[in-house]
Amino acid sequence: MTAAQTATLGFPRIGPNRELKKAVEAHWAGKLSEADMLAAAQKVEEEAWSLQAAAGVDLIAVGDFNLYDQVLQYTDALDLVPERFAGVQRGTARAFMMARGAEGKPALDMTKFFNTNYHYNVPELRVDMEPRPAFTALLSSIKRGVAALGGARAAAVILGPVTFLHLAKFTDGGSAAAGRAALLAKLVSAYRALLRDAAALGVAELQLHEPALCAAADSAELRALYASAYPAILEALPTSGAGAAAVNVVSYFDDVDDATFAWLAALPRVAAVSLDFTRGDAVGVLARHGPLVCKTLGAGVIDARSPWRADPDTILPLLRAIRSAAGPATPIRIQPSANLQFVPVDAACEKGLHAARPAVAGALAFAAQKLRELRDVAAALAAGADGAAAAKALEAHAAAWTAFRASTSGLSGAACAAATEKRVAALGDGAFKRALPFEERVKLQLPGLPLLPTTTIGSFPQTPEVRRLRNQLKKGTIMQEQYDRAIDTHIAYAIGVQDALGLDILVHGEAERTDMVEFFGQQLEGMAFTENGWVQSYGSRCVRPPIICSDVSRPKPMTIREFKVAQSMTDKPVKGMLTGPITILNWSFPRADVDRKTQAYQLALALREEIKDLEDAGCRVIQVDEPALREGMPTRPQQKEAYLKWAVDAFLLATVGARPETQIHTHMCYCEFQDCLGAIARLDADVNSIENSRSNNSTLESFAAAGYKHLLGPGTYDIHSPVVPSVDDVAAKLRAFATAFPLERIVVGPDCGLKTRKWHEVIPALRNMVAAAAALRAEV
Ligand code: GLN
Ligand code: ZN
Repeated sequence: MTAAQTATLGFPRIGPNRELKKAVEAHWAGKLSEADMLAAAQKVEEEAWSLQAAAGVDLIAVGDFNLYDQVLQYTDALDLVPERFAGVQRGTARAFMMARGAEGKPALDMTKFFNTNYHYNVPELRVDMEPRPAFTALLSSIKRGVAALGGARAAAVILGPVTFLHLAKFTDGGSAAAGRAALLAKLVSAYRALLRDAAALGVAELQLHEPALCAAADSAELRALYASAYPAILEALPTSGAGAAAVNVVSYFDDVDDATFAWLAALPRVAAVSLDFTRGDAVGVLARHGPLVCKTLGAGVIDARSPWRADPDTILPLLRAIRSAAGPATPIRIQPSANLQFVPVDAACEKGLHAARPAVAGALAFAAQKLRELRDVAAALAAGADGAAAAKALEAHAAAWTAFRASTSGLSGAACAAATEKRVAALGDGAFKRALPFEERVKLQLPGLPLLPTTTIGSFPQTPEVRRLRNQLKKGTIMQEQYDRAIDTHIAYAIGVQDALGLDILVHGEAERTDMVEFFGQQLEGMAFTENGWVQSYGSRCVRPPIICSDVSRPKPMTIREFKVAQSMTDKPVKGMLTGPITILNWSFPRADVDRKTQAYQLALALREEIKDLEDAGCRVIQVDEPALREGMPTRPQQKEAYLKWAVDAFLLATVGARPETQIHTHMCYCEFQDCLGAIARLDADVNSIENSRSNNSTLESFAAAGYKHLLGPGTYDIHSPVVPSVDDVAAKLRAFATAFPLERIVVGPDCGLKTRKWHEVIPALRNMVAAAAALRAEV
């Protein structure tokens, strides 16, 4: 049997050494012309095509590249821009302006793309907008792709219209659903033209990327949008002759519900339907539906969000299940589950990791490696995914996983989960529950605190001096001892400032931390770091997530030294400051051989030990940050519930060992909380500081309406802005809070950590915040 076809859905656009970032930032700094920046970007794009072609991928994604963000590219190309940018000529400069803002023109909002760590720019739409499409850059990129690869190998990536609208917000005050329906009707002709133009360039396939299909299960509105737009958009495409590209409708990040799949399967003019087999239960959906008639199944079996190699132990059974559910006649094409932009470019660059932990490095597959996997997995499928020939196709993968397992505890995923459960069970009744209920323990906590106690979220300005220190330590030009002494002076400064300003609960300022996840990752056993494992976070910003690679444990205390130093300098309580298990997990790459819940529990158990040590060191208040709780939430409702269950349990496992008199704080930001208030309440944190300053009182009202009984710390001012809030600003905020939530249960603080601010902004802002709290106390 010949190998199944392979295809990609997009490749990292940052370049193997972040060439795109460097070019774009040089352009912003006025050091590189627009033409030179575009040339640098095209080079990255073309190299990605060559890499994919050399790896033998049959159908290669083109049109997936852009300079900043794919959603932003459509906002600009469709000319669906807010009033404040309407006078600016469309194109690269306007797109950058919308992303970054300009004098008097605030930037578009930025938020996470579904449940990934990638941020896109949120389109700001109004129902009365008229799209004026001009996809010049996209079409020219597709054209160059066809020239480089040949049309038969090029698949044009198109961001689907329903997903575009699903990701947008409506700012006209009307209903968003009505706005989406109205704009979708207007987008039909724009998309008809786009597809026709792209097809006319000679591509073999048009890939309509519609991750919002996975959310259609719970949304009659989304289903109606799809049903109304797709037939109309597709019917205009030529079915034969030049410009008769095949259409592949691509869903990802979860499975789709049965009805949605049946609808996709019956869509006329669609040659392929692509499903994500790495999340949810697409096999079940397929099995219930039965074979696709006259359509190819795009099988997203290579996990585009995992840095790990395909494991034959999971992939072979998966291939057999897909084959049996799809029936013998359905052509199956092997694909990554999504665009590969969510993984780093090339694991072969990780020389340090290869030298230090060869078994871990050998089991990694970044985007470049995944291209080869497509071919190997296609060969295994052709061999029936069974027997010697299939095993042979994946022989190198099997060897890598054998070496990897030998390097870890050697336990299978199930055995590892069982061992972790056993540790949890040994904690008995106290594993997930504090010794006293909130109402009783809160009376024992921090006696003597005033009404409206004031605090901050943890970090203080990371000055150039602090960064220089860290570099010196890394390069070895100073020793740990010297470094610690220097950090202590920063702690002393932070404590001195807070004492002088009269804050009630102090923090040590986090000067020793670059990043709230990396800092813990480097001290925990079981996490690996890369040198060049960058992924795009937003625009030119890239992050290097740690990789969880074996059982997580805490060889020694992580934060006690700095806590003690800080507490020794003041009589006020100093907050111990930890990053929560869910945030560490969600901002890392989890290991592939063990379920995420088990990894979260292992992290939680390590943090539980840290909390015990903090208490023993005299700590009376401990904050466990969980800004990433909500973003790991899957799109489908059942999976959402399952996720929130174990995620909250992990937080509880980390924190409930605290004595009743220890006040546990948490902090959350970057998100709406409305759809997970139940889960937030179940965290049972004594205080929850939430980012709130940019929203009106509605978040607070929803906490109150949901019967939230704990203390709440709604942010009183925006830390993202250099503007110093006045006493009146903060007092007005507090008075507004009081109309929605009992004043006795409000803790006063800024919106988030202060590390990106300058001391000369922080000091007056906090002084005013403290004064505002005092003013309010005097009023009641
Ligand atoms: N404690 C962290 C800080 O203050 C919290 C950061 C965050 O919420 N992302 O920086
Ligand atoms: Zn925050």
